[in-house]
Amino acid sequence: MTVQALRLRTLSTLLGSYFAFGLYWGVWVVVFADYLAARGLTAGQAGLQLAALSIASILTMTLLSPRLQRLGLARTVPLGHLTMGLGTAIVSAAPDRLAVLGFVVVGIGNGLLDVFVNVGGQMVETHHRRPVLQFVHAAYNIGGIAGALGAGLALAAGAPFRVPLGAAILAFGVTAIWCAASPWLRAQPAPTATETKVSLAVFARSPALVLPALVILSAFAVEGRTPGLTPGRHERKMGMRGSVLTSLTLEEVRVPAGNRLGEEGDGFRICVESLNSARLITAAHALGIAEGALEYARRYAMNRRQFGRPIAEFQGIQFLLADMATQVEAARSLTYEATRRYDRQDPDFVKFSAMAKLFSTDVAMQVTTDAVQVLGGYGYLKDHPVERMMRDAKVEQIWDGTNQIQRLLIGRLLTKEG
Ligand SMILES: Cc1cc2nc3c(=O)[nH]c(=O)nc-3n(C[C@H](O)[C@H](O)[C@H](O)COP(=O)(O)OP(=O)(O)OC[C@H]3O[C@@H](n4cnc5c(N)ncnc54)[C@H](O)[C@@H]3O)c2cc1C
Repeated sequence: MTVQALRLRTLSTLLGSYFAFGLYWGVWVVVFADYLAARGLTAGQAGLQLAALSIASILTMTLLSPRLQRLGLARTVPLGHLTMGLGTAIVSAAPDRLAVLGFVVVGIGNGLLDVFVNVGGQMVETHHRRPVLQFVHAAYNIGGIAGALGAGLALAAGAPFRVPLGAAILAFGVTAIWCAASPWLRAQPAPTATETKVSLAVFARSPALVLPALVILSAFAVEGRTPGLTPGRHERKMGMRGSVLTSLTLEEVRVPAGNRLGEEGDGFRICVESLNSARLITAAHALGIAEGALEYARRYAMNRRQFGRPIAEFQGIQFLLADMATQVEAARSLTYEATRRYDRQDPDFVKFSAMAKLFSTDVAMQVTTDAVQVLGGYGYLKDHPVERMMRDAKVEQIWDGTNQIQRLLIGRLLTKEG
């Protein structure tokens, strides 16, 4: 499936499923109010029954997809249900058809308010960060309005409650099958390190073997679920949002001696060696970002027309693209050269891996910034991936040793050479 088709399917699943959720709920509350009115239940009894229904629906939603919880929708939707519950309790105190009408009014009012709040962007700063979520929630409420209105009209016209309820269950069932087949709902939120069985490398100070003042490190593989290992909050990052960053607290963590990596006191060597190879990974990572940004900008420039011609025909844009492509190729050559030296374990591979990390990550920052420039105003919008690439590139200059530290290292190695 192409990325475009996947996106379309995800969006249609999201909007369709929430519309169906809303429809189902809208019909349910009207039918329920009608049922309560016919039975002449008190407001308290009605409220209790609605509460039970709400809890069942919340549980279903919560269990249905971990993603819903992560997006915060498992909190907003129950809030809407609570308002509906209150409405039911109030209108069912008047056990006649007026109650149904009252409920329809309450349901529509609640829905309209929610649509207004969400589409108006009032909740952007809470959990509805992504614009699509506002439309998702709007779809839910429009479904609710349609369901409540349809069921209200059907009942007022004398149809038995089986008719609107059956229609809503059918719509809900079809959507549930559609959702079950959707790649979006099957996707799990990114687990944290401690939720997985992934081992962490932890460096710990060993008792000094020779001199008490000497710091000797040993490295241990610590299982993600070891008692005493607690993750901190998920840090909110500028970019690289697809990866989880969290602090870890280790309290009275006991690790068997068999989990030690290498010999006692090997920790520093292991740490330095892993940093040397990590720099190559970062260089390659940054190179990939730069390549992606260049390709996107190149294609965009060939399609975007201004003043009657593609912007790729303007020399100003061609110069930008030429510089970007030259830098990408230079970064590629240096990264490949550094990896070759690493494979051969050449004595100067440390200098080369630092140079590759430094150059590739600076190139990624420059090229992604230029890619945003090529796209003009659209480059600054989230509709295109280059702004994300620019944010992602920034951290490449920081992690695995900042680029200042790489320069320091290269400078030291250069001045040590004979
Ligand atoms: C998203 C993210 C993920 C990370 N993941 C990991 C991880 O998985 N594992 C891990 O170990 N770390 C990780 N880090 C930490 C990262 O490696 C450090 O943030 C980085 O090495 C810089 O250290 P610092 O933040 O303490 O900056 P500081 O050392 O406080 O530096 C601040 C500024 O001073 C400059 N500076 C510092 N010393 C010198 C000097 N001697 N000469 C010149 N300039 C200097 C720096 O270049 C920088 O500009 C992560 C960081 C981020 C943001």
